[in-house]
Amino acid sequence: MCSLRFSLPLSVPRISLLQSRRYSSCDFSRFFPSCYPGEKLQRGCRRFQSFLKMEVLLRSLRPRLFFRVIWFLGFILFLQFWIAGSIDKNKALVEHLQQHGKLRSDKVAEVMETIDRALFVQKEYPPYVDSPMPIGYNATISAPHMHALCLELLKDHIQPGMHALDVGSGSGYLTACFAMMVGPEGRAVGIEHIPELVAASIENVKRSAAAHLLEKGSLSLHVADGRDGWPEAAPYDAIHVGAAAPEIPKALLDQLKPGGRMVIPVGHFFQDLQVIDKKLDGSITFRNVTGVRYVPLTSRSAQLQNY
Ligand code: SAH
Repeated sequence: MCSLRFSLPLSVPRISLLQSRRYSSCDFSRFFPSCYPGEKLQRGCRRFQSFLKMEVLLRSLRPRLFFRVIWFLGFILFLQFWIAGSIDKNKALVEHLQQHGKLRSDKVAEVMETIDRALFVQKEYPPYVDSPMPIGYNATISAPHMHALCLELLKDHIQPGMHALDVGSGSGYLTACFAMMVGPEGRAVGIEHIPELVAASIENVKRSAAAHLLEKGSLSLHVADGRDGWPEAAPYDAIHVGAAAPEIPKALLDQLKPGGRMVIPVGHFFQDLQVIDKKLDGSITFRNVTGVRYVPLTSRSAQLQNY
């Protein structure tokens, strides 16, 4: 502040000098036929001078008010950049996934842009890095490219009005995406067997763009063993399993609607991400998409003892 105060009296006359007749009559046209640079500089000087005059006037009239206004404007600017920064980074993550071919459809890109990943990742971890992050209780939020892949595989079965089940919902991120896709007329159910994670996921969703769907009841998160599914909202058009099953749980197959699709990692240490389609006649087809590494779909006690 002090340096500004002392520099003002020096700067104003210096600018006035530039503005003086001597300067303005300086014949630039001798060097520049159009005389353009001189004119531009003059205009700039004039503007700067009037800005300084206004500042001096304001400071002499209401010095306290002046600094309060500056602080307030600075605070508003900071807030704006902070909020916009978070949204821009989530958007940048989505663009990164698109550029690397992990995200192909506009529909999935749109929902991943709408649900800000930062709200589902613990504060001490970087939310926009394409990697899984710990969420506590020996669990992780999956990497963004895995979320993108599962949403892409299921997108035709998560249309408005449909029912989707997210087994091992963890942070709640994918359940929130499902809820946005099925909308208020559909159902998105998340089940997770660690009560603390369910409580945290509800808080995460409440801060997200899917909060109104939680309030309305079309999105719900429950404490339950995912291997039993959630019969109350069955049959499901889409079932996502976010933990690796040694074998496909029968209850989940039974709760899949004819015409529906399940995406589930199957295996022990090395796992295959499988796509299971139940045809309209009830027959089932299996397809391996890629090798993956998920935490196991297991009992609560085994998970808490670090498997
Ligand atoms: N898809 C989620 C979480 C993936 S981690 C996300 O991205 O946030 C897998 C989750 O499955 C963990 O939270 C773990 O607690 C849960 N889980 C493991 N076995 C389970 C079971 N039998 N029933 C319900 N949830 C289970």
